[in-house]
Amino acid sequence: MDRRHFVKTTIIGAVLFDIEFTSQRKLKTIPINQSFFGQQKHTSFAWLGMAGAIINCRGTIILIDPLISYGQDESTCETGDKLLVPHPVTAEQIPKADYVCYTHADSDHFAEKTAKALNRRLAPVFICPGPIYEKLLSFGVEERRLIRIRDFASYSAGNSEIFITPALHDWQKVNPWKREDCCGYLIRTPDGNIWHPGDTRLIPELEDIKNVDVLFFDVAAVDSHLGPEGSARIAETSGAKVMIAYHYGTFDLPSGSYGGCDPDDSLPYVKGMKAKFLKPDPGEVFRLPMNQIN
Ligand SMILES: [Zn+2]
Repeated sequence: MDRRHFVKTTIIGAVLFDIEFTSQRKLKTIPINQSFFGQQKHTSFAWLGMAGAIINCRGTIILIDPLISYGQDESTCETGDKLLVPHPVTAEQIPKADYVCYTHADSDHFAEKTAKALNRRLAPVFICPGPIYEKLLSFGVEERRLIRIRDFASYSAGNSEIFITPALHDWQKVNPWKREDCCGYLIRTPDGNIWHPGDTRLIPELEDIKNVDVLFFDVAAVDSHLGPEGSARIAETSGAKVMIAYHYGTFDLPSGSYGGCDPDDSLPYVKGMKAKFLKPDPGEVFRLPMNQIN
């Protein structure tokens, strides 16, 4: 390579790098308004930020891992974490919640303020592993509105069926969580199936889960998580048609940490797959059946 060529490629390389570096898309919250919650003849869903999801299955409203309350002000989550994006809807604004599902008790999935607000305002049924079951009981949630999960159990939930997928998220050095202390949720609807696997290692049973249309794709490349490699694996084995990047971009955390990974680092793992890899904004609403997702 002569010097001129070297200078040219170096400059172009630097410019391209700069464009790539600065053009990394920032998430922009889209508010979820009241019309999301109405009776409808299809299913719609949205990412709520961090690990949260909301689903309207023909009028049945299901939330998974909602952390949708503020802390001391609107730049702080109820967990105390500084927010990079506002919540698309808050626990005080939601007009209807039939089922609230929790995958496990880590603070990036379960927090008291949202759970208490939803309980007080909307009296949903809570579905959760044992550690959260005990907490909700202590908040005064009646037992008739509490379901303690069992692996592979399924629960009829209005117009949908909620199927429990196993999870192993044993990151603690002392008394690590065991099976059924954590779980995932496969929401089966007449319009398609949505799988939120929770935080979990890639355990063999996950490769047996089939007929998934939409997979929430855990981009956190950290211990005890599926990360891009495990998520791509279960996208393939489950037959997912769409992968929704989540577990990132919401709290101001160091890059590479449990909530600070870059979803673009997942791209090499999903390259060549038939399923689409999407990075929606918090609150961006998708509609099932799948042929209506672009
Ligand atoms: Zn998590």
